Amino acid sequence: MAKQLLGKEVTAALNEKIKKQAETLKEQGITPKLAFVRVGERPDDLSYERGASKRCETLCVEYEKYVLDGECTQEELMDTIRQLNEDKNVHGILMFRPLPKHLDEEAVVAAMKPEKDIDGITAGSMAGVFMGTNQGFPPCTAQACMEILDHYGIDCTGKKAVVVGRSLVVGKPAAMMLLGKNATVTVCHTRTTDMPSVVKEADIVIVAAGRPGVVDGSYLSSGQIVIDVGINVNEDGKLCGDVLFEEADAIVDMITPVPGGVGSVTTSVLVGHVVEAAARTLAKRQ
Ligand code: NAP
Repeated sequence: MAKQLLGKEVTAALNEKIKKQAETLKEQGITPKLAFVRVGERPDDLSYERGASKRCETLCVEYEKYVLDGECTQEELMDTIRQLNEDKNVHGILMFRPLPKHLDEEAVVAAMKPEKDIDGITAGSMAGVFMGTNQGFPPCTAQACMEILDHYGIDCTGKKAVVVGRSLVVGKPAAMMLLGKNATVTVCHTRTTDMPSVVKEADIVIVAAGRPGVVDGSYLSSGQIVIDVGINVNEDGKLCGDVLFEEADAIVDMITPVPGGVGSVTTSVLVGHVVEAAARTLAKRQ
């Protein structure tokens, strides 16, 4: 059986660090604050908002909800973002996406200041990930994968890493971050030929395809470390990842379960970014 890399263990350690940093900032006169920007009442958004606001409360981070009507205009949403960009008491903005179809999401994202982009969605944040600078913030899920590797003391230097998926939210930034950790990185996607033999060669595998069971035992080999980012609902209505857990469990060295792996770490990373954004504003003032 593989060792399970548990999100709750990583989250506990991260939370402790984040809370301490938030408390120190408070003593210095800055209370980290997150602004939720939500258009309409999509159940997915509401559920994520509930989870993130609870985590904010636990970690001494203030938050405020800016809720716009599902029929709001582009200008109303742009005004909200511009106002939050200028609000000195707001350090991070989380805008729920996808936006309703009548809104130009690209334009709204482009209007957001990268230094408040704690979700890592602006071009500035992405540039930061690719250039290895502190401009903006990396997408939270990609960073959550790195936090898991770090927490369990997994050194990526010289290791072969394979990322399955090339989205801007997970795959591409995760590949860049692995490169930053000195891994030799290959990225797989729907046009990759003979994916099983590519994945089999890896020491570290991050799977973010959004397809239940896309990686089964035939892709895996002993000694591997597998991070399963996928969140899917299987035929029995149960949450499952992109990796066929029962098969992987018998082959690989370490694996993140779904649920109980990457998901909960992502929320802490998000709140951690708010605290870091607040710390950066303080550092600029000094
Ligand atoms: P996405 O935008 O749909 O991207 C999926 C990527 O996987 C694409 O690059 C696609 O390749 C590739 N892919 C799909 N099927 C494949 C296959 N059969 N073989 C090889 N590559 C394949 O998805 P995403 O936003 O990155 O999310 C991926 C998964 O992570 C989803 O299950 C999502 O729910 C989950 N997720 C979890 C968290 C968390 O906090 N745990 C956060 C975000 C997302 P092409 O580019 O060629 O189409």
